[in-house]
Amino acid sequence: MVGMVSELKEEIEKKIGKGKAIEDWKTCKKYSRYGTCQMLVLPQSTEEAASALSVLNKFRVNVVIRGSGASVGHGGEAANEVILSTSNMQEVRVNRSKRTALIHAGVEISKFNSGLREVNLAFPLEAYRGATFGGLIATNAEDRRQMKFGDITNWVKEIKFVSSRGEIFIFKGKEIKQIIGSEGVAGMIAELKIKLKDLERLTYEMKSFESFEMSFREAKEIGELPQTNYLELLNKNVSRLIGLKSKYHLIVEKEQRSKVINKKYNLYTRVAIDEMRRGKYFVDFHPAKNGLKKIVKYLENRKIPFCASLGNFSIFASPKSKRAFESCIKYAKKNGIKIGGAEGYGAKYRKYMPQKKISKLKTLKALYDPENILNTKLISL
Ligand SMILES: Cc1cc2nc3c(=O)[nH]c(=O)nc-3n(C[C@H](O)[C@H](O)[C@H](O)COP(=O)(O)OP(=O)(O)OC[C@H]3O[C@@H](n4cnc5c(N)ncnc54)[C@H](O)[C@@H]3O)c2cc1C
Repeated sequence: MVGMVSELKEEIEKKIGKGKAIEDWKTCKKYSRYGTCQMLVLPQSTEEAASALSVLNKFRVNVVIRGSGASVGHGGEAANEVILSTSNMQEVRVNRSKRTALIHAGVEISKFNSGLREVNLAFPLEAYRGATFGGLIATNAEDRRQMKFGDITNWVKEIKFVSSRGEIFIFKGKEIKQIIGSEGVAGMIAELKIKLKDLERLTYEMKSFESFEMSFREAKEIGELPQTNYLELLNKNVSRLIGLKSKYHLIVEKEQRSKVINKKYNLYTRVAIDEMRRGKYFVDFHPAKNGLKKIVKYLENRKIPFCASLGNFSIFASPKSKRAFESCIKYAKKNGIKIGGAEGYGAKYRKYMPQKKISKLKTLKALYDPENILNTKLISL
């Protein structure tokens, strides 16, 4: 691609404007986890994304779509790729009376929610700090509050999707399921129409226990209360790691019409998750409901630090060595436990992607990226 960079830049900028295709190595590197980015393209709207993709397709270059780069699966990776970033796609239009919003895919969910406080509305699923709406849909990332609010399909009414040829498609209602978890292999999630809820005051409680069995018993009772939003369990190692006593800590978020109390308990869960993700051998388990206790026991026996969302069955663990990491993976495979997130496998977990998901992505690619330019390291035709 090296030889055609300036020609490509010129053609993209002719279509979407000067300064929107950047080949400066330092800037490109900031957007590229593996430092292999050759050019950064920054459209500001769905139409600009469509124009840019049609040019990129014509030049047949490897393209990786990027939100904020927060995915546990490390998003996309390709040799000498062009990064098509949604970071300048930031338009937001809120309809207060209908409790809906039209938003561009590059909007970060937590920032969006901060802005919504003014009008007493909220989007309940936030996944990870920094995650964009496009990234949330593309990885089908789970959220702790799913135990109460259900998954993303309950909250997204419509998606504008741009194929790699630059065609714009609108998916509505149940059709959106097709592109949820599509990991940028078939096109760009460019705009969404989402539902919002009334903002409630959140309260946080933290209880400590000597054994995880005791915390599980308590969690079951609290989980049945209608006001409970999430239940996060920190094991003893993680508790120590983030400066708490060496006990099991159960952090509970509830929606209550009272003043906000103990918000720092919410912070503990964030710090714990960050701590797990920093680990070189971080693993993200998604057991079925009846498998949660089993995997917790497994991690306990091996003294592996973890925090577990007890309401939506997701566990972030941080084994200390490659051997411990590999045995976690082996254990998960043997026991049919999903790893690498609900659906976002990315470059890191590509080799563990189930056949069913590979087939789904190949079908999507054949339909919307027949020239095979998008996220080809993950799925290729
Ligand atoms: C409880 C919990 C569960 C999580 N589960 C997962 C998980 O299952 N898998 C996972 O990877 N991360 C997971 N995360 C991490 C993170 O929240 C999500 O990956 C996040 O939504 C990524 O958003 P991003 O904008 O940073 O995407 P990026 O990291 O930039 O991209 C992630 C992937 O999505 C694609 N993508 C991004 N934006 C678009 C777009 N607009 N159109 C098309 N494709 C796009 C990229 O090509 C890449 O393949 C989880 C976090 C939490 C707290």
